[in-house]
Amino acid sequence: MNGGYAGQILYVDLISGDTKTEPIDQELARQFIGGRGLGAKMLWDSLAPGTDPASPDSPLMFLTGPLAGVVPMGAQTCIVFKSPKTKITLGHPTTGPHWGPELKFAGYDGVIVSGKSDKPVYVYIEDGNVELRDAAHLWGKGILETWNTLRAELGPRVQSMCIGPAAENGVLYSSIHAEPFRSAARGGSGYLMGSKNLKAVAVRGTGAITIARQKEFRELFSLIYGRMSGGRRTSRHGYAFSRWGSYYSGMAWSDVSTLDVKNFREGYWEEMDKISVLQFEWRNKVKSRGCNGCPIACMQHGVIREGPYAGHVVNPDFDSTQCIGAGCLVTDLDGLLYLQQLGDDLGFDNISLGGVTGFAMECYEKGILTKNDLDGIELTWGYVPAMIELWKKILNRDGIGALLAQGVKEASEQVGQGSEKFAMHAKGLEYGAYTGQKRHARALQYAVGDRGGCHHYGQTWEEQNVRVWSDSLLMCTWARSYMNPPSLYVDLLNAVTGWNLDPGDFNTWAERMLVMARSYNIREGMNPLEDDVLPERVHSDAFTQGPEAGALYPREEFVKDRTDFYHRRGCDDNGVPTEQHLTELGLDFVIPAIHDATT
Ligand code: SF4
Repeated sequence: MNGGYAGQILYVDLISGDTKTEPIDQELARQFIGGRGLGAKMLWDSLAPGTDPASPDSPLMFLTGPLAGVVPMGAQTCIVFKSPKTKITLGHPTTGPHWGPELKFAGYDGVIVSGKSDKPVYVYIEDGNVELRDAAHLWGKGILETWNTLRAELGPRVQSMCIGPAAENGVLYSSIHAEPFRSAARGGSGYLMGSKNLKAVAVRGTGAITIARQKEFRELFSLIYGRMSGGRRTSRHGYAFSRWGSYYSGMAWSDVSTLDVKNFREGYWEEMDKISVLQFEWRNKVKSRGCNGCPIACMQHGVIREGPYAGHVVNPDFDSTQCIGAGCLVTDLDGLLYLQQLGDDLGFDNISLGGVTGFAMECYEKGILTKNDLDGIELTWGYVPAMIELWKKILNRDGIGALLAQGVKEASEQVGQGSEKFAMHAKGLEYGAYTGQKRHARALQYAVGDRGGCHHYGQTWEEQNVRVWSDSLLMCTWARSYMNPPSLYVDLLNAVTGWNLDPGDFNTWAERMLVMARSYNIREGMNPLEDDVLPERVHSDAFTQGPEAGALYPREEFVKDRTDFYHRRGCDDNGVPTEQHLTELGLDFVIPAIHDATT
């Protein structure tokens, strides 16, 4: 097998309890690399078109890539599945900090779980030994307790992907956590895992990963490690990111009117400093921490020191914290930190949870949802105790919680009364913490992103290409600041695997993986002109506050930008990849299915 890859995939059938390994297909690995790219192709091949994404047949793929575990910032795992949240797109969230490398040390490039167990179980992988174990004692427990219990039972070096009660209870936007504060959340990953009665996948590996060309690799390693570790001295972003992690960008995005404020009604918030990273650093911070082999160490650990939530350990970051914070006008920092920790521990996708809560608050403000509808909860903006009560209802799918547990698209379709205008999602996936009235590239990426309202897709053609490479190699997306020119990704891949890919083909590889994903979505029912769209708010609710008051994204301008995007990605005016482009990329095998889906 080539260097970088462990060389085999582990398959787990939860119906029979059987496990098996198969060698990774080397030709496929050369074309689609790993993680997000390879997962899209494997899902295309393995899941019949139109299958219900929550059916037992729907596989859950935990995939690494050739650079996971061997390079700095190479700590990620990508979870690939057909999204139960959107029903028509891929899901491909990524997360660190250690699980992916540990899986490769155990000898696997991925774990693919299919079927449904008739009782709660977890998978335990210890190098070549794989067992399905009873998880009755873990069911119902939060992420922190589950993770700690598995460590106590299996040893302190074990790494676990697990779900919390939100997933067990069927909340559509529940997540999979790699440890108490790191999640691969978007698109209903946890919902799918919960529907399989799979509580956790725990792994311990003691092996090593082969590097094909040692000297070349060492030189590249030194180059990028030097840039990463020196970044705090050489750039403002490097300094800020090393000191404060992604949480620092909340204030920066508010300053340029791009932050989700009050359910995306505004992009700038005068009270942002009350929940800023500077307040966190002063009041709560304990230390920074990094993923496997990362010199940046962006994770921010802190503790709530006083008040009703005192004693809770917290770990704020940007999108999930600000969708709950500025998105819901929470000015109580300790309350916000508690909410974020609570959402994590219950196993929610905190980005979607913040979006749903902001949507419900706006419905309450407008009288679309009344106190009666909310079983007595006074859901005023920023009121933390009411948010906690609402989340309990969502968790248990009780009363209004049953509706809100489905997400803003489904909720707005049922409550109506014009709420669709401010139901902030694309293809059923709630937005990340950026709003698009001013920064149109952000809005466009929500519309055309291949997993729905995706904050991770990339604002420019170049950024999209870099991100799909990093999600397929399984390097952290933040590494891109240090990977200039982007052909460095190919140089690293060649040194690790022993391949001789042409760095000049960087964009062709990216294009193949991105068009593969778009093709998959079209096969599964996505109609680009109907689904690559934005909610009315972005087009017609101009900002009323801040330096960009008056900004919005006119629909005609958006349609033109979307058409430009289609053409740049080799699609026709309807957003469908052309046969010529598919053939050029070696994707001609998708042509019949695309033809059937679009005629
Ligand atoms: S930058 Fe942050 S998320 Fe990325 S690898 Fe480092 S610690 Fe992990």
